[in-house]
Amino acid sequence: MASPDPKTYPVADLNLLSDTRDLERMIASVRLIAKLLVHPSLNPEGGDFFPASYSPRIKRLSLYSAANRIVASILGPMLDVPTVLRQLLIRLVLLNGTPFPATLADDRALEAFARESVFGVWHPVGTCRMGDIADPMAVVDPEGSVIGSDNIFVADASIMQRLPTANTNIPVIMAAEKISDALLSRN
Ligand SMILES: Cc1cc2nc3c(=O)[nH]c(=O)nc-3n(C[C@H](O)[C@H](O)[C@H](O)COP(=O)(O)OP(=O)(O)OC[C@H]3O[C@@H](n4cnc5c(N)ncnc54)[C@H](O)[C@@H]3O)c2cc1C
Repeated sequence: MASPDPKTYPVADLNLLSDTRDLERMIASVRLIAKLLVHPSLNPEGGDFFPASYSPRIKRLSLYSAANRIVASILGPMLDVPTVLRQLLIRLVLLNGTPFPATLADDRALEAFARESVFGVWHPVGTCRMGDIADPMAVVDPEGSVIGSDNIFVADASIMQRLPTANTNIPVIMAAEKISDALLSRN
């Protein structure tokens, strides 16, 4: 919790890449994608390659605002300058001075890049997971009823036991339909 003020959003730390297997897979994926992206048959301008990361700075720049419109109108045309200048601009402004091939070649730098850049894609689930009533990690039973309470039901993404290998919206609708049907048929 960030503050006792109910209007303040909570801080949600998804603890991404805490499992070293995830980290290893992420690093291998970044290397593979980088290799494909600079392949001459795919990209004759491989020198212009840089990774886009959804950093706090980019999030701020992505907001609709008069100030951002001015910044975009200045930065956009600057990317059309001659190649050497463009590459310098990319390196200094977007890559903090380090060319990305140097990061790719350095395991520790690439790990740091992966850890700094990783983010979720808006599909958090499982904070209130469904399970057998004997399961100490379960919050709701297989009917969606909060274990240990009467007449409190949960029917949203939080009841998923783990992230499905798919988008979450349809599974949420499916779970909500199933739980609400069961509730309606009780009365
Ligand atoms: C930017 C973004 C893009 C996404 N894209 C996709 C996609 O392309 N495909 C896909 O399958 N999934 C996508 N998702 C994920 C999907 O939207 C969610 O998994 C799904 O909506 C979760 O459903 P939910 O019912 O658990 O929560 P929500 O849909 O978040 O519903 C919670 C509801 O509770 C309301 N609420 C909150 N607090 C209170 C309160 N105190 N009192 C009353 N009401 C309250 C909120 O207003 C909201 O209507 C995306 C999510 C985001 C954020």
